[in-house]
Amino acid sequence: MEHVDVIDSVCTYCGVGCDISASVKENKIVDISAHPEGVVSQGNLCVKGKYGYAFLDAHDRLRVPRIRKRFLEDNPKIYEAIALHVKELDSTWVETTLDAATTAASMKLQEIQENYGAKSICSIGGARTSCESSYLLQKFTRQTLGSPHVDNCARICHAPSLKGMRTTIGEGAATNPYNDIYNAEFMIVFGSNTTEAHPIIANRIVDVAGKHDNLAVFDVREITLHRFAKYKGIIPHEANLLVLNMMAYVIITEELYNEHFLADRTKGFEDFKAKILNDPYANPSYFEKLEGYESLSKLIPKVAREYALKKSMIFWGLGVTEHIDGSYAVMAITHLALMTGNVGKQGAGLMPLRGQNNVQGACDMGMLPYYEPDYQVPKEIGLMTPQLVDEMLEGRIKAVMNMGEDLTHVHPNSNKMNHALDKVEFLMVQELFMTDIAKRADIVIGVKSAYEKTGVYVNAMRRLHLSQPLVTSDLPDDWEVIKLVANKMGAAYAYEDSKQIWDEVREVAYRRFSGASYNRLERHRIRGLQWPVHTEDTPILHQLDFRTEDGYGEFHYHQYELRGMVEELLEKRLRGYYLTTGRTLSQYNNASQTSRCEKLNKRYDETILLVHEDDAKDFTSDRVMLKTAFGQSAPISIKFTDKIKPKTLFCTFHHGKSGINRLFGDKSDVFTMTAAFKSIKVEIMNDEDP
Ligand code: SF4
Repeated sequence: MEHVDVIDSVCTYCGVGCDISASVKENKIVDISAHPEGVVSQGNLCVKGKYGYAFLDAHDRLRVPRIRKRFLEDNPKIYEAIALHVKELDSTWVETTLDAATTAASMKLQEIQENYGAKSICSIGGARTSCESSYLLQKFTRQTLGSPHVDNCARICHAPSLKGMRTTIGEGAATNPYNDIYNAEFMIVFGSNTTEAHPIIANRIVDVAGKHDNLAVFDVREITLHRFAKYKGIIPHEANLLVLNMMAYVIITEELYNEHFLADRTKGFEDFKAKILNDPYANPSYFEKLEGYESLSKLIPKVAREYALKKSMIFWGLGVTEHIDGSYAVMAITHLALMTGNVGKQGAGLMPLRGQNNVQGACDMGMLPYYEPDYQVPKEIGLMTPQLVDEMLEGRIKAVMNMGEDLTHVHPNSNKMNHALDKVEFLMVQELFMTDIAKRADIVIGVKSAYEKTGVYVNAMRRLHLSQPLVTSDLPDDWEVIKLVANKMGAAYAYEDSKQIWDEVREVAYRRFSGASYNRLERHRIRGLQWPVHTEDTPILHQLDFRTEDGYGEFHYHQYELRGMVEELLEKRLRGYYLTTGRTLSQYNNASQTSRCEKLNKRYDETILLVHEDDAKDFTSDRVMLKTAFGQSAPISIKFTDKIKPKTLFCTFHHGKSGINRLFGDKSDVFTMTAAFKSIKVEIMNDEDP
């Protein structure tokens, strides 16, 4: 009988962080199922968790490090040092050994450091590698390279959640475990297409809403969750802060707030109250003036009342954060919880639905320009990715270390990004495949995927999970590549395995991780541990006080500023189209893994633009291009629907060939520079080609 091993680990895709059990035969995964006792997965996986492992054996997996020929021609000393280990691959690349590739990288980084100074180098990481690798990349950048410029992909997703929550309650992370959804009496989902982006959390929400009819959903278009909602909110583009401040207005004017909680746990409410009452946009009756959205004037007070009077949770996603007022909108969400005491207890709370499986961990590890590990403030604050891009264009950033973040595909303003990357002297990429950014690199090093290594991942509810390899691989882990480069630059890192790095993390980031040893994480592989982890772990945050400096929750009011679609509706002159982008269930981010899994790819293998049926007259061909001042998309197929408001368009960004991210410019959240991916005015160009 053939031997099949069953190995437990964690899904490599979204921030839900489902527990998986893989059946492995002869070092190949033959099946992945939900762990039968999985606290997160609860016996279910979405299609990505179930079928999204075929990429491991894809024919084009990066197995041998490669160096651009042009780079070696331009750097003869480096070529001389590694010439014996170089083998022709094609007209662009040579293949080489890991030792030679890291020697070349260290020589070039040293040269740039000497010629232009340490701050001419930056590191940008993704968030589907382990905490250990994120920790080491930021340590290497700050200590060995001497540069403060480290960032991660939270820049284009939940950096505003971190900013908004830290400002008001001192901690940028979900307050409660997912299973607390079963204890909630009322739920609001705001700007999150949860069934597509966080499906296993959506299962819980749908389950509870089906039994208790206690769900409110707000989005700019009709999404699947609306079907299960008691209150179905479709709101204009860029109106999040408007709606959230209106909810605060209702809670204040109807005196639905929790006086004891406000007195004991918060400060600044009276000032906040006065400002809301003076806010010209805070009264929900404002919506009576906006054609097509009048019903919101009655719906918002109903939602605010149920939220305030019940034990309530709020969930949000990138529909909140990816706007110019993303951080302010997150603050407005926490204001609602502070006013009503809906935080710091079971069945209530604040739940940012973070995107990638370790984006919480990457931030916890200090892969941010303004936080070191454990959110300690560095001596010198570095630059955020959009600022780094400007510095590349100005010629002040000369080298980029990139660990699993496809800057050229998933970041905004792709034309500008490509131009900037073309200007740097050195780009090194650690990746699984020749992604769009890898194609522009000087050195590309193939690394282990999450299913081939050991490491800690932190999901969207602060739950630590120690992954273990499902299959063995000869490829290096990300941290091993960093160690090799660092030691060739004099770092003397002695780490033999990821456990040794994690033990250092537990000392450096002791406020969150001191009690989370590998041994303990192994013992709790299924239950997991939620940080802070010391003698006990912490399923619910803020039970006694907030994690602000003095322990009080704070109000930071910001008035909605009239603009965009709301302004046009007010003036009854809605013209042009507003595009919003998002995810689909069977693909993930730049699709580098999911598009190589046939069962996933055949479900959604091209970008489809959703258009309202009433707008059909403007779409005279089957495919259109979209255009803005920043660029033009490729032709995209269209589909008419009544699930979207007229003049609103929706599409995904997973397929790079669609060029959707060329459309977005530098418009971004005022604090964190998170791109305003959720709303942009576009022109339609009909594609008349056959
Ligand atoms: Fe993986 Fe997220 Fe799907 Fe769970 S919900 S199986 S973590 S992609």
